[in-house]
Amino acid sequence: MTSSFSNLSLAEPLARAVAEMGYETMTPIQEQAIPVVLQGRDVMGAAQTGTGKTAAFSLPLLQRMMKHENPSTSPARHPVRALVLLPTRELAVQVAQQVELYAKYTNLRSTVVFGGMDMKPQTAELKKGVEVLVATPGRLLDHIEAKNAVLNQVEYVVLDEADRMLDIGFLPDLQRILSYLPKQRITLLFSATFSPEIKRLASSYLQDPVTIEVARSNATASTVEQHFYSVGADDKRRALHQILKERGMKQAFVFVNSKLGCARLARSLEREGLKTAALHGDKSQDERLKALEAFKKGEVDLLVCTDVAARGLDIKDVPAVFNFDVPFNAEDYVHRIGRTGRAGASGLAVSFVASSDNRLVADIEKLIKTKIELEPLEFDEDRPRIKEQGRINDGRRMYREGEDGGSPREARQPRERREYTPHRQPAAPRDPFFDQPYEPTAAPDAQPAWEAAAKAAPARSGVSANIKPKKKVAALFKTQSTV
Ligand code: AMP
Repeated sequence: MTSSFSNLSLAEPLARAVAEMGYETMTPIQEQAIPVVLQGRDVMGAAQTGTGKTAAFSLPLLQRMMKHENPSTSPARHPVRALVLLPTRELAVQVAQQVELYAKYTNLRSTVVFGGMDMKPQTAELKKGVEVLVATPGRLLDHIEAKNAVLNQVEYVVLDEADRMLDIGFLPDLQRILSYLPKQRITLLFSATFSPEIKRLASSYLQDPVTIEVARSNATASTVEQHFYSVGADDKRRALHQILKERGMKQAFVFVNSKLGCARLARSLEREGLKTAALHGDKSQDERLKALEAFKKGEVDLLVCTDVAARGLDIKDVPAVFNFDVPFNAEDYVHRIGRTGRAGASGLAVSFVASSDNRLVADIEKLIKTKIELEPLEFDEDRPRIKEQGRINDGRRMYREGEDGGSPREARQPRERREYTPHRQPAAPRDPFFDQPYEPTAAPDAQPAWEAAAKAAPARSGVSANIKPKKKVAALFKTQSTV
């Protein structure tokens, strides 16, 4: 039984960093992958984000690199030995943060490079010498072509979120990058699914890999309470407000299907008094990092995002995920709701289903192999009227299922002749607060804290959208331990 990190005989600086992170036992992917990587085998791993897979590959790679660890300031003594490739900037920053934390008591250096930023600060970091380079493929190629990154001593390659890299169209970039690397190396590939394309990629670049699958790739965490409400397009914002209020929730991710919809919704919610930030592909890198950071610090309540911008983001303790739009791609449903209920915590995933979404819901049902029951949503404003009707029509009090063991079905059905699927979750706590009219927590015109901060310290002219990444990433690293 090797479920404790202490059984791994990690080098003292690594063991100390792990202990400081508060990890007690290994997650299933760590339990299976770490010993295999320590032995020097290639790995093909099916693991979703949130399973601890970053540590599953980082810790054994850092352990193997400890033999090269040295305090020299000479860049030549710190060649790139491990390359970690990811599909998005946010994921790259997130993985780099974790590597930095695990390596903090060693002399092994790491950095991250990604597009949308000035290349110069990244070049300066690369020129100092780093053992672990975390990168998105396009920007890495820019650095290779500019001769900023020398990869002839790479011993380890990690293709993380490989399915997404292929979805985005990174295959040609990956092939080029891999062609620059020494043939003698260890390659680890992680993917949410093992599609035929992923299998082809693996058979071209992995040697006799050990396959590790910790959970069915399309499984949704059992700790997530999932609801699908029938809500007309015009009622979705009202529904969002009501559920947040009923559940007493402070923070949530809200997913929409388009960049335009994302921006519009974020603006509307902000006007309605919720501290909101938008995360989508048209936002500058600076804005995206600020939005994410503000959410992590609790300065923003709702992060309205599109799938590409949010995939794999590791933000702990997001109590709820709302699918304001049902995703076009059923797999995105699994990824979206993976933001909540992580690492054993319970979470809530609410989807607003319009009548035109039935086919999309059927796709999700097929993928997660679970019957989805559409639930009606009763709005607060409608409730007094319903009570009144109840008295006039049949003289009985209207019961809500679960509140007092009454017989809810007969009481509800006559009002609207539609099928009622009972809400089987425990009733929301009876707090008098919830009977009061909803009051926004902030003045409708209040600007999000991160926007105010940006205005107080405007970007220097000439720097434009390309803020200094070193500073921003460093700031994120500092807050990691508190997130
Ligand atoms: P990942 O799947 O790598 O994105 O990790 C998800 C989250 O789980 C990160 O915040 C990690 O810090 C955390 N984590 C990783 N390994 C463990 C562990 N063994 N015990 C507790 N938390 C962990």
